Amino acid sequence: MSIHSITDQETALKDMVAKNKWGTFFGVSQQTLDRVWENLSAPDGNSVVYITMEIGADLDVFNPVQKHLRDLEITDSTNAVFDHYAKLFLHGKQKIPNYGGGLGILAGDTLKSMAELKIPTVAVSLLYRKGYFSQHVDALLGQISTATDWQPENTPSLYLLKDPDHPDLPLEIEISFFDADDRKTSAYARVWLKMEISKNLDFFTPEILLDYAIPSSPDWIQDAAQHLYDSRSENMKIIQRRLLGAGVVPALRALGITARILHLNEQHGVIAVLDLIVEQLKDKLGHAYQAVATDEDILQAAKIVSKKIVYTIHTPVKAGHDRFDQRLYNQFGNDFCQRILRLLALDDEEGHLFNFTAFAMRVNRATNSVSRIHRGVTQKQFPEFASKITAITNGVHHVTWISDAKADFYNSFKEFDQWQENPLIFSNARLLGDDPRFRSYFEQAWQQDNKALITNVNNMLLRHRKMMHETWIDPPNYLSQINEDNFLEPGVFTIGFARRFSTYKRADLIFSDLDTLAEIILTLNKPINFIFAGKAHPADEPGKKLIQQVLAIQADLYKKTNGLAKVVFIPGYDMHIAKLMVSGVHAWLNSPKRPLEASGTSGMKAAMNGVPNISTMDGWWVEGYHGGQTGWKFGIETDVSAACLSESTSTLLYKEDAASLNAILPEVLNTFYDRELRHLYIDKCIKNIELNIPIFNTHRMAAEYVDRYDIKLPPPVEKQLKALQQAYVSNET
Ligand SMILES: *Cc1c(COP(=O)(O)O)cnc(C)c1O
Repeated sequence: MSIHSITDQETALKDMVAKNKWGTFFGVSQQTLDRVWENLSAPDGNSVVYITMEIGADLDVFNPVQKHLRDLEITDSTNAVFDHYAKLFLHGKQKIPNYGGGLGILAGDTLKSMAELKIPTVAVSLLYRKGYFSQHVDALLGQISTATDWQPENTPSLYLLKDPDHPDLPLEIEISFFDADDRKTSAYARVWLKMEISKNLDFFTPEILLDYAIPSSPDWIQDAAQHLYDSRSENMKIIQRRLLGAGVVPALRALGITARILHLNEQHGVIAVLDLIVEQLKDKLGHAYQAVATDEDILQAAKIVSKKIVYTIHTPVKAGHDRFDQRLYNQFGNDFCQRILRLLALDDEEGHLFNFTAFAMRVNRATNSVSRIHRGVTQKQFPEFASKITAITNGVHHVTWISDAKADFYNSFKEFDQWQENPLIFSNARLLGDDPRFRSYFEQAWQQDNKALITNVNNMLLRHRKMMHETWIDPPNYLSQINEDNFLEPGVFTIGFARRFSTYKRADLIFSDLDTLAEIILTLNKPINFIFAGKAHPADEPGKKLIQQVLAIQADLYKKTNGLAKVVFIPGYDMHIAKLMVSGVHAWLNSPKRPLEASGTSGMKAAMNGVPNISTMDGWWVEGYHGGQTGWKFGIETDVSAACLSESTSTLLYKEDAASLNAILPEVLNTFYDRELRHLYIDKCIKNIELNIPIFNTHRMAAEYVDRYDIKLPPPVEKQLKALQQAYVSNET
């Protein structure tokens, strides 16, 4: 990049500032802001509202605005007007702890692809002032959770919207709660806007984040609005879901957004549908609708509304679905809302419960599962709706998850021209697979990523070692307690495992027969690293136990293998750690009990970097395995039946699946280490690039969703979507 003159810089910066009656925004031109808003407020409604409890889109893994500033060689000394924004984007805090895990990151990745593909979309979610909890890990106690303090005020890409009628005041929306006697209490939210800006800064997806922890809301609302997935009580869950769902229509109204489709990312926000049903009834029956509506009227209204709803279900695990006691719910919703829910949300098995998954299943134009195998599972679980359940396999935002080293590598082959815009281009890897330059360049990039990960881990181990002497916390890793000479070395075969710690994901499976594992390693006489990360929900006791289990075997395995096997746990799993891990390890381990992992996405992130998976045949891997060309499989491949959906310990198949994993490990290690066989390992890496990047990206996924939305888009956008839709059809059998 050439040196830009100060005036050039100023012109460029001016072009990154845009205003409307709700505020001033940085990163896009006025023209782009106006265009996006025009799309969202088209009189006939031609956009999508994506409703989600969480959004994961940290700026330290993808930040096109910052990149643009750096390309312009903007420094702090620039023009005072822009100095504030430039400083914020260059040096501000790049983490937005408004996500707990996979669901939120999927949301963020999806919204980024929507921006890139120029599909008019707006998200609605909540702003949690204490975020999701921060994780500390103690060698003996395991996970320790603390509140996460962050300042949305000082976070780049977040804007508090103004009230257009009173520009000195923030915009506030109002929603209603009702006690058991139908007495109303109002809750108020300030409205934050986060922008998911496209790589070329020529489009963006706004995210509306509702902040109810403000003085005008009652204390109990403020209290419930602080922590993502607060599970102190059932009430807390009910309130949080209402803060999301009931906020949707008022927020859209306040901003003039005329959506055609509401997309429910999980059922959490489903009560937005109630507002739409009530609107229909008001239109038809007038203001006395509550008194005069018949059940038939309500069902009729629901039928009309369902044409606007697209629903994605994300898990077969029961805990993932909200079911609330009717009487409890009656303390928050009014009588008429109870009546609608009794018609549309009753639980099949327990009639005193409202089942919000059943509600979402009933009122939509399309129900989507998140992989092919999950489609079958969902159809079994909800036989009544089986015929309308289809599959749209999840993806990841490839530009976010491809490491810098791999991006440089992809950039240096013309066969991958425009790969950021068009992930389908990676199928051209088939033309390069035998090219020695391609193979050796891949290995170099991989070495760089591996070195970055190992250096990061070693620095952490050193910090922990210091901490051990300075605080009461016992650092989580055995390696910190022994000599620094025993820290990790680059180039050693490294297996990564990182995800939420919950029972069915079986994080400890690989260590469940420690003697056999140690024997395999000793026989081979080669070193191996295991790098783990992940949080357990603070209320999930068995999940937290799994973390302790992983910590507990560290010393044992190290000693049993004479120091060949090293296990490290990285506390505080977030997107930055995820990116280091998925690109820097040599294999990504995924050991859920089939068929409980609906999709899984971290393995896709590894695939984006050419890293093979070792996985049970569950979730996306059923589609990504390609007969073994891209990695390894293990574990029993039972038929998908209701019986295998159990999460109880006795049905988790530890013994069988651990034996199966141990049986393939020697081959994996040999292929990696043996000079004669190594080319087979690299073949698998390249097949990931060729076969899996074109499929498991959110561009393709978004294109499949647009097919369910039925919105009108400009011809060039349609053309790009068509190509993506034709490249892969998730719903094929
Ligand atoms: C990708 C990701 C997840 C989800 O991983 P799964 O494999 O879908 O469980 C969770 N947390 C973080 C920080 C991630 O990056």
